[in-house]
Amino acid sequence: MNFEIVILGAGISGASFANKIVKFAKTLLLDAQDITKRPKSTNIFPFHNKSYIEESEWANEKLFPIYHLKTNYMGSTFNGIINSEEFGRPLGKVVYLEKLLDRLIQKFEERGGIFKDKQKVIKINKYNDHLEIITNSGQTYSCKLLVFATGSRALDLQRSMGFDTPDEYVGIYCHFHGDEDKLNENLDVNYLFHINTKISRNGPLFINKGKERLSIGFLGDNQPIQELSLKLNNIINNYKKIQPFIEGLTRDSKAIVAKISKHPIKSFSRERMLVLGEAAGLVTPFFYEGILCGLVSAEIASYTTKSLIENNSDFNQLSLRQYDNEITRVFRNFFKNGKGSEYIFYSAGSNMQLIWDSYTKSIFKDKKLRRYIYEAYQIEDIEALTNYDTSRDRYAGERMLANLPFLSKISLAPFFLKARFIL
Ligand SMILES: Cc1cc2nc3c(=O)[nH]c(=O)nc-3n(C[C@H](O)[C@H](O)[C@H](O)COP(=O)(O)OP(=O)(O)OC[C@H]3O[C@@H](n4cnc5c(N)ncnc54)[C@H](O)[C@@H]3O)c2cc1C
Repeated sequence: MNFEIVILGAGISGASFANKIVKFAKTLLLDAQDITKRPKSTNIFPFHNKSYIEESEWANEKLFPIYHLKTNYMGSTFNGIINSEEFGRPLGKVVYLEKLLDRLIQKFEERGGIFKDKQKVIKINKYNDHLEIITNSGQTYSCKLLVFATGSRALDLQRSMGFDTPDEYVGIYCHFHGDEDKLNENLDVNYLFHINTKISRNGPLFINKGKERLSIGFLGDNQPIQELSLKLNNIINNYKKIQPFIEGLTRDSKAIVAKISKHPIKSFSRERMLVLGEAAGLVTPFFYEGILCGLVSAEIASYTTKSLIENNSDFNQLSLRQYDNEITRVFRNFFKNGKGSEYIFYSAGSNMQLIWDSYTKSIFKDKKLRRYIYEAYQIEDIEALTNYDTSRDRYAGERMLANLPFLSKISLAPFFLKARFIL
C-alpha cells in the first residue's frame, strides 16, 4: 500500500504528529505492540505541555483525571515543596498516558488516517523516489516520507538507516491502587522526585499520583532486569521514607521495565526520513521528561512537513534541514538547562547526595527559587520555550552553593563555576 507519510511508533511523539499531519497527507501509523495490552502509565503533564494537545483532550477527566497541585523535591532532611497555591494556577495535570494515546489514535482514524498495531518494522529499503517498509508479519508499505517515533525500542533499525542513536538508560515502575481519599491521606503531592545515591546515581526515585492510582519507580542505572525488580521490591518493602505513601494501597503484581534514552543525536533528518521525540534523545537529561519534547518535536515536524507537502517536495535531505534547524533553535536554551542540571546532580561523585540535599533545602528556604521552578512548569508555547531564560538556573546554582556546609562550599566552588559555563 502506498502512503505519503508512514510513522513508526504510536507513542506520544508519533500519535501526536499523526493527528496533526493527517489533514494534509495520506498517512499510515504503525506500532509494534498490541495496543490493547499497553501498560498503565501515570505521568506528570505540566502546563508547558498543554498548548500541543487539543482542549477537548485536556478537559477529558478519563485522560487527565486530576490537577497537579504540588510537587515535593524530597531530600534527606528538607522537603522542597512547590505548592501551586503559593503562586497561582496548578502546575498542570496528571495524565493516564495509555488512555491519551488510545484517544489520539481514535481521532487519527476519524480523520482518515490508517492505524495498524502488532506491526513491528524490521527492514526499510530505499529507492530513488520512495521508501519500502517491511514488517515482521510480512506486510510491505511504501511512502515518500518516513518518520521514526520509535522511542528507545528500535535503535538498531534507526542506526541501519544512518542515524545516530541517543544514550540508553532504564527505568522500572509499578502501580498502587486505592480510593481517592486514601491516596490523598497518604500523600498530599502529585509528584515526588527524590535522589538517593543508594537507589540510583543517574536518576530519581519518583512517585506520580493520579486519582485512584499512583506509580512508583526509579530511573537511571543500567543493571539487568532481575536486579532492577529486586531493587524496586526492596525499596517498596523497606525504604522507610516512602512507607507512609503506599500504606494500605493495593499493589499491581507486575512491574514495568522501560528503557529511556537521552542526549540528543546530531542530526534529526536524512533523505526522506525524520526522527521525533525520545528516538532522537529529546528527553530532558535531569528530569527524564520526554512528553514535552515528544509533543514539541511533533509540532515542529508538522509545520515543517506541511509546508513541504504544499510545495510538492520530494523530501530531500536539504529540504528536511528545516526540521533540524527548528529543533535546534527551539530546544537550545532548554537543553542547556538540562545539561547544566545533569552535570550538577549526576556527576558530582561522592558529593551527589550533599548537592541534592542542598537543592531541596534551597527550595524550602527561597521563595524566588520556588517561583522560578513554578514558572518553568508554566512555559506557554514554542516561543516561550525558545526564549527559556537560563539565568534562572544560574540563580538556582548560586543558592545551592550558598546552602552547602562551609567546607563543601569552598571545595565545590570550582565545580559550580564549571556549571555556569554550561548554562
Ligand atoms: C519510568 C518512566 C517514567 C516516565 N515519566 C515521565 C513523566 O512523568 N513525564 C514525562 O514527560 N515523561 C516521562 N517519561 C518519559 C516519557 O514517557 C517518554 O520519553 C515519552 O513517552 C517517549 O515518547 P515517544 O513517543 O518518543 O516514544 P515511546 O513512547 O517509546 O513510543 C515508541 C513507540 O514505537 C513503537 N515501536 C518501537 N519500535 C517499533 C518498530 N520497529 N516498528 C513499529 N513500532 C515500533 C513502540 O511499540 C512504541 O509504542 C518517563 C519514562 C519512564 C521510562
